Amino acid sequence: MELNKSDYIRLLNVTKFISFKPITWILNKFNMGAITFGTYVFIDKDLRNDADTILHELVHVQQYINHGFSLFLIIYLYNFFKGWIITRSFHSAYMCVPFEIEAYDYEDWDFYLYYYTSRIPQIGL
Ligand SMILES: [Zn+2]
Repeated sequence: MELNKSDYIRLLNVTKFISFKPITWILNKFNMGAITFGTYVFIDKDLRNDADTILHELVHVQQYINHGFSLFLIIYLYNFFKGWIITRSFHSAYMCVPFEIEAYDYEDWDFYLYYYTSRIPQIGL
């Protein structure tokens, strides 16, 4: 998957970022700062201006768009549980999910710079 600057802008414009304490509290228990469902990103308040996290979650939004909501979750959970059976570790299982590998691998330094300098749709709520 290739994402360029305008893809990121498009994704930012369709994505809703939600910092809802009870959900981020649960995420923190699993050492996670954010989780994406379709175009909804539940994100720790402290990470709302963190370009790494925003980019990572936007890659997931695009993956949902590419595969469809249900298929994304099926592929995700299948790989997660397969990894968990092998490794018995939450973190290792998480890193067995191809969607995560893709999201972590994804870097676009142009966009980083753009994101931090232009303060584009930085996320109400
Ligand atoms: Zn992820």
